[in-house]
Amino acid sequence: MPGAAKGRSYVGRRVRQAFQLINMDYSEFRQRGKEMVDYIANYLENIDQRQVYPDVEPGYLRPLIPASAPEEPETFEEIIKDVERVIMPGVTHWHHPHFFAYFPTASSFPALLADMLSGAIGCIGFSWATSPACTELETVMLDWLGKMIKLPDQFLAGNDGEGGGVIQGSASDATLMALLAARTKVIRRLQVENPNLEEAEVMGKLVAYSSEQAHCSVERAALIGGVKMKMIPSDEKFAARGEALRKAVEEDKAAGLIPFYFCATLGTTPSCAFDKLMELGPICNAENLWMHIDAAYAGSAFICPEFRYLLDGVEFADSFNFNPHKWLLVNFDCSAMWVKKRTDIIGAFRMEPLYLQHNHQESGLITDYRHWQIPLGRRFRSLKMWFVFRMYGVKGLQEYIRKHVRLAHEFENLVLQDTRFEICAEVILGLVCFRLKGSNALNEQLLKRINNARKIHLVPCNLGDKFVLRFAVCARTVESSHIHFAWKNITDIATELLQENKK
Ligand SMILES: *Cc1c(COP(=O)(O)O)cnc(C)c1O
Repeated sequence: MPGAAKGRSYVGRRVRQAFQLINMDYSEFRQRGKEMVDYIANYLENIDQRQVYPDVEPGYLRPLIPASAPEEPETFEEIIKDVERVIMPGVTHWHHPHFFAYFPTASSFPALLADMLSGAIGCIGFSWATSPACTELETVMLDWLGKMIKLPDQFLAGNDGEGGGVIQGSASDATLMALLAARTKVIRRLQVENPNLEEAEVMGKLVAYSSEQAHCSVERAALIGGVKMKMIPSDEKFAARGEALRKAVEEDKAAGLIPFYFCATLGTTPSCAFDKLMELGPICNAENLWMHIDAAYAGSAFICPEFRYLLDGVEFADSFNFNPHKWLLVNFDCSAMWVKKRTDIIGAFRMEPLYLQHNHQESGLITDYRHWQIPLGRRFRSLKMWFVFRMYGVKGLQEYIRKHVRLAHEFENLVLQDTRFEICAEVILGLVCFRLKGSNALNEQLLKRINNARKIHLVPCNLGDKFVLRFAVCARTVESSHIHFAWKNITDIATELLQENKK
């Protein structure tokens, strides 16, 4: 029948059109997914064949792709081909075993796979009801991790605790959240004492503190929070001390200001120094300062009993944070934050529009994580913790930390054996600060040549008035041979530089 045939072809055309719009069906996704895993495995397995730091100049990318999005759909093959042409030439390979810059950023296969699953579930877990598993796994994972580093029980949620943990996107978020919660808390406390007090009047007098060695995100938190921040001078080991804080607090109180927040750092970014919590904590408690601890990098090491002493004094803190996404094999983003009293943080930013409410929120046991953070939306990030913790086990993770610390000491010993160089800060974890004995200009030259050669990648810091090179053990796959490769590269360039300077 001509009519039926016409009908079929009409349906067929409709189906084909729909197909084009969907673009990738289940069977193609299965195939492309496997190809993508192969591409990723090849990339990571052979990453040492690539140059750790790219050659491109700013603006390199725009001419390589069209100025506007394509009108017609393209194929997956076309896109994948462009990854090597457009993207890879402009990638700094953070997981290259010759990458020794900044601090590590975590990467592991279990975390990568868990993130795929998180993407597939694709829930937005701002309340318990928006995906109970997303909220509940997060609460339990933060308890697991808290126990791994032997956090005092007060920070854990358990079944009926007042504390608890949350995954923030970054340590900067955690510092800011703690500062904002502390700000609300002090304003409310003062208003209870004096109901006529205006918030603006208090705000203008608030003052926060951190060490001068603290990460710039701490100063930024105060800027965003609209409060003054004062930097406490550090001692000869780059640690903040109790006396310096006490002096600042007393001066400011005498001047009519209201001290309310102190951010301590465990493992500072320049030199991995540790503020003296045992001195600072009691002062914070006595003076009603909220003490937040930023252990972004170093925190992962506290899973090893031999490094746990570095966390002593955490019992004085109101909030504590570190980044499993730096050194605990959980890919970015995963910054773990705990508070002793979750009402402090939840109460500071509560909003309850009808469209976000659900039937279970009054049960008391329920966490709605939107109250713990600045954005509303949040991904299912605890999956990657769960996968990593189970597949490595605490023992595997401890071994991983210990290996990096061993490699840092290996590098330290190489530096110590060469009298042209000096070590600039005590090596406690995976960071070595070193320099050529001599001027800052000489060391700036050295670093520039090292990075221009692009065989390894390093970044500098200032310690006191010295320009210093930072060598951070970073990649998951880094071995002794890579440490020796790096040292040979550094000393070859140093020899050349010193000879030129003699002429
Ligand atoms: C890396 C680092 C940060 C910043 O971490 P993000 O998670 O990127 O915000 C903050 N503090 C210290 C001490 C760090 O080393």
